[in-house]
Amino acid sequence: MKKRAVKVLDTTLRDGEQTPGVALAPEQKLEVARALDDLGVDIIEAGAAITSEGERKAIKLISKAGLDAEICSFVRALRSDVDAALACDVDSVHLVVPTSDIHLKHKLKKSRQEIKQISLDAARYALDHGLVVEFSAEDATRTDPTFLHELLSAAVKEGAQRVCACDTVGVLTPEKASKLFSELAKIVQVPVAAHCHDDFGMATANTLAAIQAGAQEVHVSVNGLGERGGNAALEEVVLALAHFHGIKTGVKLNKLYDISKLVERHTGLPVSPTKAVVGENAFAHEAGIHTHGVLTYPPTYEPISPEVVGHHRKLVFGKHVGSH
Ligand SMILES: [Zn+2]
Repeated sequence: MKKRAVKVLDTTLRDGEQTPGVALAPEQKLEVARALDDLGVDIIEAGAAITSEGERKAIKLISKAGLDAEICSFVRALRSDVDAALACDVDSVHLVVPTSDIHLKHKLKKSRQEIKQISLDAARYALDHGLVVEFSAEDATRTDPTFLHELLSAAVKEGAQRVCACDTVGVLTPEKASKLFSELAKIVQVPVAAHCHDDFGMATANTLAAIQAGAQEVHVSVNGLGERGGNAALEEVVLALAHFHGIKTGVKLNKLYDISKLVERHTGLPVSPTKAVVGENAFAHEAGIHTHGVLTYPPTYEPISPEVVGHHRKLVFGKHVGSH
């Protein structure tokens, strides 16, 4: 596997598929996985193997497709979940452990020490069966930092190869992300991933701040699909990393528009015309001053050329066209 400054874990087929109304057939999931592999993502979170027979069929198809990407299944801290992942021949598990007191008290009804013991047992079990473990704190951004550090350090000591902090309800700001991820990067000696949700429209900014602070992996989804407001959008994060920070990922930017269209088709969820990078209007110009400017010298009204992301320029002669 090639070494890169920032790894990309795509969760379109797991978190993205949890978007209300989205359900992909195994063959559709395989087609999206092939496209993600061709795009150059490092890790494909193909689903949660425990969910259903259909899900296992899809994950197995993807595992056996001979893709370059690491194939990963979401698992809870349960041996039965790990067994389901093993049955699908995945390379790795995204082992997600609720860590905030809100989740522990209201969802799991377990103490911090109980969840620590349960989750480390599940991690050990997965590692003993040859899986790569990405140990992930759910609701990390509302978790007591002392407990978060204690748990993630213990997971690394147990053998987890990567850890992840999830901003499960999207309450980070770039400032908070900087603090959280710089602390984590100092404390653990393995790559740290950022999993940001977009409830306040901050997922991309928070993901970038996390990387600047020392995180080495991003969790993203095509078109920003995901629970509620969605996840950090793959197309936004990889483009912004490259454009603003010169950080390369394995993703081929010029295929971003095509994969957006493929996922739009399979999920049936239309991409907003004003969606950054891949929306139909991302490079459309209507007002006369704008169209004239773009025709004369494109950078006047375009931060990047549409070809960079495999998109196209569109000039619209509507009511704002004026006399230019
Ligand atoms: Zn999520």
